[in-house]
Amino acid sequence: MEFRLIDRIRDRTALAREDVRLGIGDDAAVLAVPPGQQLAVAIDTLVEGVHFPHGTAPRDIGWKALAVNLSDLAAMGAVPAWALLALTLPHGDAAIVDGLAGGFGELAREHAVALVGGDTTRGPFCLSVAVHGFVPPGRAMTRSGARAGDALFVTGSLGSAAGGLQLLQGRVPFDANDEAHRALRERLDRPTPRVRAGVALRGHARACIDVSDGLLADLGHICAASGVGAELDLDALPLSTALPGVFGVDTARELALTGGDDYELCFTVPPASVDAMHTALAAVGAHATRIGVIVEGQGVRAIDGAPLAAMRSGWDHFGA
Ligand code: ADP
Ligand code: MG
Repeated sequence: MEFRLIDRIRDRTALAREDVRLGIGDDAAVLAVPPGQQLAVAIDTLVEGVHFPHGTAPRDIGWKALAVNLSDLAAMGAVPAWALLALTLPHGDAAIVDGLAGGFGELAREHAVALVGGDTTRGPFCLSVAVHGFVPPGRAMTRSGARAGDALFVTGSLGSAAGGLQLLQGRVPFDANDEAHRALRERLDRPTPRVRAGVALRGHARACIDVSDGLLADLGHICAASGVGAELDLDALPLSTALPGVFGVDTARELALTGGDDYELCFTVPPASVDAMHTALAAVGAHATRIGVIVEGQGVRAIDGAPLAAMRSGWDHFGA
C-alpha cells in the first residue's frame, strides 16, 4: 500500500539500532529485547480537530504524535526504543507526509527511537503511534505507589500549553511578534517528553504520571490508584515566565491546575529520598518543584483548604 509514501516516511526517520533485526518493509518487524529487560508499551491516537487544531503544521503534528507516547514511557521510567506509526490521510499528499515524518524523525533521533513499521490508509486525518521501551523487571513507576507523607513534585512548568491554546482560540489575540506568545504556542505544538527525567526517577519516585489532561485530573489518577489524597501548595505551582506575563497570575494558576498537554511528570517521593531524587534529576539536566504532599484520605485539595473541585473542568482539547 502507498509504497512511495512509506519510502518517504522511512527515509525521514532512518535510524540504525542493533536490536532492530528487521524494520520497515516486511510483513512484521523483528526486534530483540535486551536480556533481563521487560517491555513497556503504549499507544496514543491524535485526531485532527480534537488533539491538534486544523491548520497545525505537519512537522509539529509528527513531533507531537511521538512526544505524547514517549511521555507515557517516561512516566513509567522506561527507556524508549521502537515505534510504530499508523497514519490515515484523506489524500496521499507527499508534502504532508514529509512534514509529519520530518517532525517525527526529529524527536525520534533525539531519543534514538527507531520507527520499525506501521500502516498507511486513506480516510479522515488521524495518526496513532505505538512505542516500546525497556525497563528492568519490577522497576517501572506506577500510579499506585503513592503513600501518605510522600512529597509531591512536578517537572518543568505547568499551564503553558493551555496558554498556547487560549492564544490560538483568540481569547487573547495571538501576536507572532510577541516572544511570550511564541513561547506558549511552542509548548502546545512541541511538548518535551521528560524521558531522561523519567528514567532518572526510577528508584526515587514511588508513583508517577505524565500530565496530559491537567494536573488536577492526572494527580487525581495517582490518588485514586494509590488510595490516598493530595494537598497542593498553589503558590508553589511552577509557571513559565511567559504564562503569568500574558494572562496574569490568577489565570496562569488556573491553567496550571486544569489545562492539559503539558507532558510534565508528576510524582511522589518518600521524604528520605528527596535529596537523592534532586541529585538524580540534576545529573540529566532536569529539575522538579515540590508542589504539595500526599495525605491520608482521597481527592486533591489545596493546603489552605481552598476548593479545587469547582476548577476541575478537565481538558476538553480542541472544540470538543
Ligand atoms: P502489509 O500489507 O503486509 O501490512 P503494508 O503494505 O501495509 O504491509 O506495509 C509495508 C511495510 O511498510 C510494512 O513493513 C509496514 O510496517 C511498513 N509501513 C506501512 N505504513 C507505515 C508507516 N506509516 N510508517 C512506518 N512504516 C509503515
Ligand atoms: Mg503483509
